[in-house]
Amino acid sequence: MASIIYKNITKRYADGTKAVDNLDLEIREGEFMIVVGPSGCGKTTALRMAAGLEDITDGQLLIGDKVVNDLEPRDRDIAMVFQNYALYPHMTIFENIAFPLQNRNMPAAEIKERVRAAARTLGLEEHLDRRPKHLSGGQRQRVAMGRAIVRRPKAFLMDEPLSNLDAKLRVQMRAEITRMQRDLGITTLYVTHDQVEAMTMGHRIAVMRKGVLQQVGEPVELYERPANLFVASFIGSPAMNLVQGRIAETEGRIVCEIGSQEIPLADGLAGAENLAGYRNRKVVVGIRPEHLLDPQKTDPSLPGLAARTRLVELLPPEQLVHLELDAEPVLSTSALELAADVDKTSAQDLNLQAKNHRVNVVARLPSGRRYAEGETTRWAIDVAHLHFFDADTGEVLR
Ligand code: ATP
Repeated sequence: MASIIYKNITKRYADGTKAVDNLDLEIREGEFMIVVGPSGCGKTTALRMAAGLEDITDGQLLIGDKVVNDLEPRDRDIAMVFQNYALYPHMTIFENIAFPLQNRNMPAAEIKERVRAAARTLGLEEHLDRRPKHLSGGQRQRVAMGRAIVRRPKAFLMDEPLSNLDAKLRVQMRAEITRMQRDLGITTLYVTHDQVEAMTMGHRIAVMRKGVLQQVGEPVELYERPANLFVASFIGSPAMNLVQGRIAETEGRIVCEIGSQEIPLADGLAGAENLAGYRNRKVVVGIRPEHLLDPQKTDPSLPGLAARTRLVELLPPEQLVHLELDAEPVLSTSALELAADVDKTSAQDLNLQAKNHRVNVVARLPSGRRYAEGETTRWAIDVAHLHFFDADTGEVLR
């Protein structure tokens, strides 16, 4: 086992594309690290550099305490699992798993023992004499994992290994890979663009955007304390609601104006003093769908926002209530560029919302209670769970 350390790593392709920009990231010994981000953000390039399949333009890459920039892939002692897990069709499962060991002239008895141990871990013991065409997609994926495990490498590198499986199998394999990583304790770097894989599998997540690392942290930390608008809108589904706000002072109290409504901030809000520095300035306010609270259940003294119910989507045991808020959408281009959901909401749609002084937001609640479409109600807000971002830089304000 070993750590993998990226020290100021930059990758520039021959055509000038900067795919990875000054990446500083440590995957600790035994850690399961997920690298996540939208298409083209540089995740695969980062992984391929660790594998030795891509030259490093600048910086140092360490496996353990050894700089490996110029080390051939085969000398790095790491195993890769790709989305296309090419198995040899004419070989049995045993032979497929044993292949990397046979290549190294390992004694037959040891090969047998290692293959059997890997097959036990992966639930493939009964299939060792079969050929790949007789296995299901999930079983074949496990064989590919087996081939990586038998080598007992210092680290695993996985590039979207589940993307070719159907939805049900993905759920199953997700849990199996997570369990296997925890059992074996092998340092793992896992690339995906799948939210759920990112949130559920790794010890920590690294979020990338346009080659630049945005934030590294445990899943809950990224969800609860996103460092900027990009992470805030990328992590979480449905995405965090974003509205334009303005910090102001009324009768000595710091408030946030949202449309014609006002939310007092000082109560229960850590860092309210920092926000005071933003008096008379526009900010982006972020509200997770689960932090718009059931109007029929909450304490009427809580701050709230009036909103009209547009549509209810029942997804037992939950429901998504689509609301129209009397407020301004986030229109500043800099903020929009920074938000990951920019392509989900078309500019035209946002302009219409702006014209009508309405913002579309989503509340997530347990199903059961009914919300009449077309009705306007006051949705309570737990101020402690609000997020505030600088409208220009997209950085979090507290
Ligand atoms: P995806 O999720 O779509 O696989 P990714 O986050 O893994 O994307 P990369 O494949 O690492 O992203 O690509 C990062 C950037 O580098 C992209 O802009 C891509 O077009 C570019 N790129 C990748 N490979 C090459 C190459 N061989 N030559 C030039 N540019 C490349």
